[in-house]
Amino acid sequence: MNTSVVGFPRIGENRELKFSIEKYFRGEIDSKELKKSAETLRKRHLEVQKNAGINYISTNDFSYYDLMLDTIVMLGLVPTRYKELNLSDIDTYFAMARGYQKDGKDVHALAMKKWFNTNYHYVVPEIEDALKLEINLDKLIREYHEALSYGIETKPVIIGPFTFHKLARIKGNRDSKEFLASLVKAYSNILKECDNEGISLIQIDEPALVFDLTDEEKQDFIKSYKEILGQDLNTKVLLQTYFGDVRDIYNELLELDFWGLGLDLVEGKENLNLIEKNGLNRKVLFAGLVNGKNVWKNDFSKTLGIVDRLKEKDIEIVLQTSCSLLHVPYTTKGEDKLSEQYLSHLSFAYEKLDELRILGDLADNKDYRTTDIFINNQNLLNSDRNSFNQDVKDRLDKITDKDFVRTPARNERSKIQRKAFNLPHFPTTTIGSFPQTKEVKENRSLYKKGEKSKEDYIAFNKEKIKACVEWQEEVGLDVLVHGEYERNDMVEYFGEALNGFIFTKKAWVQSYGIRCVKPPIIWGDVYRTKPITLDWILYAKSLTNKPMKGMLTGPVTILNWSFPREDISIKESIYQIALAIRDEVLDLEANGVNIIQIDEAALREKLPLRKTDWHSEYLSFAIPAFRLTHSGVKPETQIHTHMCYSEFTDIIKEIDDMDADVITFEASKSDLLILDSLKDNDFETEVGPGVYDIHSPRVPSVEEIEKALKIMLTKVDKDKLWVNPDCGLKTRGIKETKESLTNLVQAAKNLRNVVYL
Ligand code: GLN
Ligand code: ZN
Repeated sequence: MNTSVVGFPRIGENRELKFSIEKYFRGEIDSKELKKSAETLRKRHLEVQKNAGINYISTNDFSYYDLMLDTIVMLGLVPTRYKELNLSDIDTYFAMARGYQKDGKDVHALAMKKWFNTNYHYVVPEIEDALKLEINLDKLIREYHEALSYGIETKPVIIGPFTFHKLARIKGNRDSKEFLASLVKAYSNILKECDNEGISLIQIDEPALVFDLTDEEKQDFIKSYKEILGQDLNTKVLLQTYFGDVRDIYNELLELDFWGLGLDLVEGKENLNLIEKNGLNRKVLFAGLVNGKNVWKNDFSKTLGIVDRLKEKDIEIVLQTSCSLLHVPYTTKGEDKLSEQYLSHLSFAYEKLDELRILGDLADNKDYRTTDIFINNQNLLNSDRNSFNQDVKDRLDKITDKDFVRTPARNERSKIQRKAFNLPHFPTTTIGSFPQTKEVKENRSLYKKGEKSKEDYIAFNKEKIKACVEWQEEVGLDVLVHGEYERNDMVEYFGEALNGFIFTKKAWVQSYGIRCVKPPIIWGDVYRTKPITLDWILYAKSLTNKPMKGMLTGPVTILNWSFPREDISIKESIYQIALAIRDEVLDLEANGVNIIQIDEAALREKLPLRKTDWHSEYLSFAIPAFRLTHSGVKPETQIHTHMCYSEFTDIIKEIDDMDADVITFEASKSDLLILDSLKDNDFETEVGPGVYDIHSPRVPSVEEIEKALKIMLTKVDKDKLWVNPDCGLKTRGIKETKESLTNLVQAAKNLRNVVYL
């Protein structure tokens, strides 16, 4: 049976691409060298797939930053403000990704958003009135021919017009339908050009089909593709979807002239039913059966059982990953710190390629059930994983409704807290982390490798904390933080300190652009044996008379940014983590830390893509889990939370229901729509909508921040507004951070003068 891969990671097994791009940014290499290193990586990735025996390999899945950004370039939709910079193509590209502030020029980056229900962020296209589409297939064609030159025939991948249209932000007066129509023309031409190039198969990704679709959207899709596919071309089209099922449009898809249909049979719970009920109308099924989002070995019996069922329907099947392998790390090879038992259960991108090949071969073998490889796989999956803890189970069993409710009610608490803290109006604070310089990272890594003693490691961090507290006082912030120098990542740090997680050395996954994260793997029941953050926070607290905010990561985020177990429910896993974090909250409070932030950066991103599933499959336990972490604190303890996005208009009640006292979130890049909805919903929690964008090195001016705050004040009660950046500062440089925070504090002070004259 043939095999296929939807897309492959591009950052490099050792994050080579990230480091090359960073060198390029620092001016240490030129664009030629950068391109060369990218080419080397592409070659390696193609060969790995080829050597693993994959039949359908993608190209154009490579990107210097992001595939949506590449699509902007492919369609000639670079916004005017970047074109006017008159930079080289590659620098224009990076200016869109990161903003540009140099030689007296000052241009914002394009916004970034979470890619469906993953922790990957894409660059949001901005469609201006004046932009005329002009296709540019240089990259696609170059990468296709590059692969051919290695003897590999590939299927170029592009993001389709429907998804692009849905995710783009249309500016000005541009008519959305007119824009879609022009996209359709462009895509028709793209196909024509692919045909001219002799490309025999192209994969068009339309993940937006897994959302709930309106009738109008369905009609738009059908009309668009009738036109695109209505040309007499030799290039075949594989329509690829992932992260869910296509229940709203399945039958219509069958009627369209696609050669193949790529369906996610892991996350798309209805897809198998749809196929069995309606057939496939002679299309080739690219069956996404190897999970592209999680790290566990495939269950051969389950997968082949499905293949057997599909075969009965006389369907031509190509076995493939459920989505791009972008969302899993490269390989378990070299993870020599993990025991054989752990390793035997894990499968990253390279191993998934092998699984595809093995499954493809087994699928062709009538007697696969008697093969050693099959039997070994079943034995492994049935073996005792040693992941159970009776105390954790007992504790969970004893939870009652009371454990989810904090008393007294928030309004009461707020009065008590106002007295206790006596903060000025528009209190200023930060989200937690401060710039992580080379030395900060080195301190951690040397300690981890055993090349630095614990004493020296702690002493170094204490120095940093001290300096951090000093300069927060100097800048004049009201609620201080310790800076998070001990943390590489907000989830990894807690995972390492809790029982039940396992860690890899190199299992990096791209989060956005050149940023990678190394998600922990939840192996077993989770619990805490001793305080995690207490010593650092207490030390920081001892250095100042100002309030020091304790800094924790919440259960939903810890789970969402880890690779979850598949042997127990997500709800059970989240509650286990919530109890562990609750222990930490209570320890902080008992030691006098009376402002505690519990970050839920990732709460929204795992919201099911279909609205009908929001409550039953997620919110009904995610929100209670957060409440479980803090319901035990005293009224005068102030609980903060932070979220990395502002797109919670739809779940505003649920966010308020988390019952935090203060929430900070990203708002600077969005159009402040969230503020309207806070007002409309009588949002009770105090709010700190981020006043500047920390994803870019740009320094915001006092005037700019003041202006943003004034807009916020038209929607938010003046007693409820906090002033803060939109996220943690760890990826920023020290100089720009100081300047930005100084401006931020000044803006808050100016505002106090204006509002309280
Ligand atoms: N406290 C964390 C930090 O500042 C929050 C990070 C995040 O929201 N992603 O780094
Ligand atoms: Zn954030």
